[in-house]
Amino acid sequence: SAILARAMGIPAVLSVSGAVEALHTGQCVAVDGFRGTVLPEPTPEQTAEFKRRQREYLAEREALSRYCNLPTVTKNGVKKAVYGNIGKPEDVQSVVQNGGEGIGLFRTEFLFMDRMSRPTEAEQFEAYATVAKAMNGREVIIRTLDIGGDKEIPYLEIEKEDNPFLGHRAIRYCLDHPDLFCDQIRAILRAAKFGDLKLMLPLITCKEEILAAKKLIEQCLRELIEAGEDVHPVPVGIMVETPAAALTAAELAKEADFFSIGTNDLTGYVMAVDRGNQAVARLYDPMQPAVLSAIEMTIKAAKAAGIPVGMCGEGAADPRLIPHLLAWGLDEFSVSASSILKTRKMISEE
Ligand code: PEP
Ligand code: MG
Repeated sequence: SAILARAMGIPAVLSVSGAVEALHTGQCVAVDGFRGTVLPEPTPEQTAEFKRRQREYLAEREALSRYCNLPTVTKNGVKKAVYGNIGKPEDVQSVVQNGGEGIGLFRTEFLFMDRMSRPTEAEQFEAYATVAKAMNGREVIIRTLDIGGDKEIPYLEIEKEDNPFLGHRAIRYCLDHPDLFCDQIRAILRAAKFGDLKLMLPLITCKEEILAAKKLIEQCLRELIEAGEDVHPVPVGIMVETPAAALTAAELAKEADFFSIGTNDLTGYVMAVDRGNQAVARLYDPMQPAVLSAIEMTIKAAKAAGIPVGMCGEGAADPRLIPHLLAWGLDEFSVSASSILKTRKMISEE
């Protein structure tokens, strides 16, 4: 919900203890998404202060709009790219409006949510082709289905697990359900002719998972060609979002066409912190030295192997992290649409 609210530019505060008892329907509530505060029934003075800050925010946003049509270049003249994250084809519009140079993460699990049965290959093809066309030749990275963990899809009947974050999720589930996985792979391969599509595998922990996925991708490609489809191979990259992937990044880089660092999960797994648990939230910080080391290692391994490396977790828009990412040589920053201009400004000033 935090990711969705941010994508839509809706102020939100999460994990407010006692909110359900303290607030009631119809009440006026002032929500400050920057400070993480919720104020029921603000006084006229408080309302005036909130309105003043709202005007300030809108003015700042207006000032950022000058970065919309500028390229992303550091002060030293090094070219970078700021991309947008999306969950549905409709989200492309706000990425383009905010000057996104590509899509660095299409969270395809959103195509599977809010419905009673899984989307067919044809429905998925439609969604991927729509995004490819809307981006008009600019890069689009489609992440294959990332379910399990905190992302539930009831009709897939994923078994109940004691530790779902360590369980049968993402690439693990897909490799064990090749029918479901191949539907998605075929849809991506067929949509690729409409733009610059790339395929990205989530939650990779070892080389064997990449090899198994690539085998299925090659098989799907062969079958489509035999059936007379106009398809060609697409680059296959991986998300680096587990400690295992960061620690073996040099090895994995031999099998991956690109890396994208997922700081949302990486922070949780490195720090052994559940990303949805308020009680341990203080440890959930990408600036923790252990997380920084994992990120640095990954970027350096990609550079040594000569493959592009991006970041599509929330860390890519974190002002504390950006100077480090630039120093280590991160190529592409994929952020929510509402953070694109701010991120480009920060990179331009570094
Ligand atoms: C991540 O883990 O950083 C990521 C981008 O994936 P998600 O937030 O969808 O798990
Ligand atoms: Mg993730």
